[in-house]
Amino acid sequence: MASINRLLIINRGEIAVRIIRAAKELGITTVAAYSDADEQSLAVRLADESVNIGAAHARKSYLNHEAVLAAAQECTVDAVHPGYGFLSENAEFARSVADAGLIWVGPDAETIARMGHKAEAIQTARAAGVPVVPGSQGLIATVEDGVAAAETIGFPVLIKAAAGGGGRGIRIATDESELVDGIASAQQEAEAAFGDGGVYLERFIPHARHIEVQVLGDGVDAVHFYERDCSLQRRRQKIWEEAPAAILDGETRNHLCESAVELARSVGYCGAGTVEYLFDPHTGEYFFIEMNTRIQVEHPITEEICGVDLIQAMIRVAQGEPLPYRQEDIRPRGHAIEVRINAEDPDRNFMPGPGTIADLHWPAGPGVRIDSMAYAGYQIPPYYDSMIGKLIVWAEDRDGALARLDRALSELELTGLKTTLPFFERLLTQDDVRNNAFHTTWIEQLLEARTS
Ligand code: ADP
Ligand code: ADP
Ligand code: MG
Repeated sequence: MASINRLLIINRGEIAVRIIRAAKELGITTVAAYSDADEQSLAVRLADESVNIGAAHARKSYLNHEAVLAAAQECTVDAVHPGYGFLSENAEFARSVADAGLIWVGPDAETIARMGHKAEAIQTARAAGVPVVPGSQGLIATVEDGVAAAETIGFPVLIKAAAGGGGRGIRIATDESELVDGIASAQQEAEAAFGDGGVYLERFIPHARHIEVQVLGDGVDAVHFYERDCSLQRRRQKIWEEAPAAILDGETRNHLCESAVELARSVGYCGAGTVEYLFDPHTGEYFFIEMNTRIQVEHPITEEICGVDLIQAMIRVAQGEPLPYRQEDIRPRGHAIEVRINAEDPDRNFMPGPGTIADLHWPAGPGVRIDSMAYAGYQIPPYYDSMIGKLIVWAEDRDGALARLDRALSELELTGLKTTLPFFERLLTQDDVRNNAFHTTWIEQLLEARTS
């Protein structure tokens, strides 16, 4: 068994800090890779060692294969953790890491290529017997193909970039003319944004819930850690997540979680991953939409209800250990909620606005967890995404978690820039939130109702 002694973290922000914390507890020496813009970061302060990998723009640092590999050699690490975003779902890079004789903390390049590419993952899911959204069953070659497929699927349809992610590369077409216009521009945009112009079509499921299952595999077997409900989104990006999904009955929950494990087993999955579904509360049907072959932003709510450390678990399976948990030992308890603290102005359509944090006081007390890289005086660089931290609460039930979130938000003080925090206070006053009666476009409706 190859054990990991020195780990290079090729990410930034809160996830770099999270990985450092997990690795330190495992007795692993941590090395933080950082760009010129992140010299003052908390990750650099907390890691045992750090290494500069280039200029602020991600292409020159966090996305630069050569620079990252050179840093790994220079620091004589034996493993690399990619976090989320950046290189985490880049099969070519994962292969280069393995070719350099290093451990990649994540599934191997073949699995990333197969499950990280959305159109291909849908085929794999179908083959494993997992229900998928009615769609084009593969990439659209020509506009005519797209029109023919949409006639069978039924409008409205989504045009989705196969290499998309983070809510980007998705557009809606409500009729044929929008589809004809949309396909070509979606292909061009996907080529520019992801270096891959492949797009496919999917039926738009209205008023759906986004429910996802956390899985962990060791290449031989796989387990699940139950599900998360991430239906509160803006621009198809999650901003408030809960575990478990209170909308599911026990039987549906079991089927859903089992199907995710089956899918993971069918590809010999090794690592942490998330199988994402849309759930239609009116019919009780669920459909696979994609798999994320990495750790996700919202993993802490699963850790809170299951009492596990997913980052440590993924490190352990990466170094060849068998699954550290048996399915019957994973017992969820209580209810957890995470809200994403982003440097964005909720009153201006969530426009990102970097700046410097003036005063900062984090909430504390029972059931409150903060995953963040922020500190008073921290200057948020304008080059990366706007998330500066996550507030996670746990309580024995959903009402308790809502009350705790309310209490924690009232303690939290963060000045100097606009954040999403006031928006969460507003969400807490909404009956639909309190009654668990929202869906993936509910926030958009809420915002429209206010502006009209
Ligand atoms: P999660 O479910 O973990 O929230 P997201 O899809 O929101 O996953 O992505 C997590 C992070 O990775 C976000 O910062 C997001 O912007 C980034 N990301 C994910 N996929 C891509 C991609 N294909 N291109 C650019 N950024 C991505
Ligand atoms: P990404 O890789 O960007 O995360 P996903 O395929 O996971 O893309 O979709 C992101 C979000 O877009 C989903 O959480 C959901 O809100 C919405 N969405 C995706 N597919 C559909 C669909 N077929 N019908 C309705 N909404 C969808
Ligand atoms: Mg997704």
